[in-house]
Amino acid sequence: MKLLEGKPIAEKIKEEIKQRVSSFANKPVLASIMVGENAGAASYVKSQGRAADNLGITYQLHRLAPDISEAELVKFVQKLNSDKSVNGIIIQMPLPAQIDYKKISQHIAPEKDIEGMHPANMGKIAFGTLTSLSANGERSRTIGQAKILPCTPAAVMELLNATGVDLYGKEVVVVGHSEIVGKPLALLLLDKFATVTVCHIGTSKAGKLEEHVRKAEVLIVAVGKARLIKGEWVKEGAIVIDVGINRVADDIVGDVEFEEAAKRAAFITPVPGGVGPLTVTMLMRNLVEAAKLQQ
Ligand code: NAD
Repeated sequence: MKLLEGKPIAEKIKEEIKQRVSSFANKPVLASIMVGENAGAASYVKSQGRAADNLGITYQLHRLAPDISEAELVKFVQKLNSDKSVNGIIIQMPLPAQIDYKKISQHIAPEKDIEGMHPANMGKIAFGTLTSLSANGERSRTIGQAKILPCTPAAVMELLNATGVDLYGKEVVVVGHSEIVGKPLALLLLDKFATVTVCHIGTSKAGKLEEHVRKAEVLIVAVGKARLIKGEWVKEGAIVIDVGINRVADDIVGDVEFEEAAKRAAFITPVPGGVGPLTVTMLMRNLVEAAKLQQ
């Protein structure tokens, strides 16, 4: 079993980002919006600010009042959209009850949407990222349609890439079908010609989760339920990517029973230390990509 850690992969990508940043005439600028005060958001902001700083990226934090209206927040986002010195915009979660994240995030200009959540960027994923199809439906050439990928799915793809395993024709099972992880990830995997099964709460309710997980050559779990996936369900030699983050007593655990799964898997991510360290790096890579698109 090989432990698939995010940090060494992130370090390599950070070096590439640094090089790209140094080729810009001005430092790229990331504008981060935080509405009200929240311990979780404050900690994200801190680590994003540190990551940006280390890469030569300017991190601009905009603190807005907790009672701001949706219309006022949209106006603020539009101001950042038209500010030529700003290359990327991120809205910190959680937002107060009067603000609908989905609605607001659609007002971010697609070329500044470094979380890759705007429908225009999501849509590009459906049209393929790295490959186009030839007449017989096989992979043909690199076209690079989507440049800005949602951060967590992009992090998962980097981890899979690091295993050196070709996903072509592999039986891949994704558990979780959220807009930020499962759904875009399934599209990225299809782009690699994996055979993708997406499971969710309906699969569990139908009593079929175990049967799907057992056939997975590559298993990716993004649910948010501690140890939902029993280690004994994991196929011998599988690649296991655990996206879940669950606080249990004083511990942080994933969605997969790690000890048991590790006995069977060829590669497995630790929680914490797997996907997590890569997501902020993906955000910074998107920023640099956005800055390039805007040139
Ligand atoms: P979400 O709540 O939006 O979606 C959860 C998904 O799990 C849904 O598809 C739901 O149908 C499915 N689900 C719920 N119960 C299930 C069950 N019993 N069996 C099968 N499927 C079930 O969650 P999300 O935002 O995608 O996040 C999922 C997890 O990933 C959370 O723990 C979150 O903290 C973590 N996460 C980690 C990172 C990271 O950087 N490491 C990034 C994003 C999310």
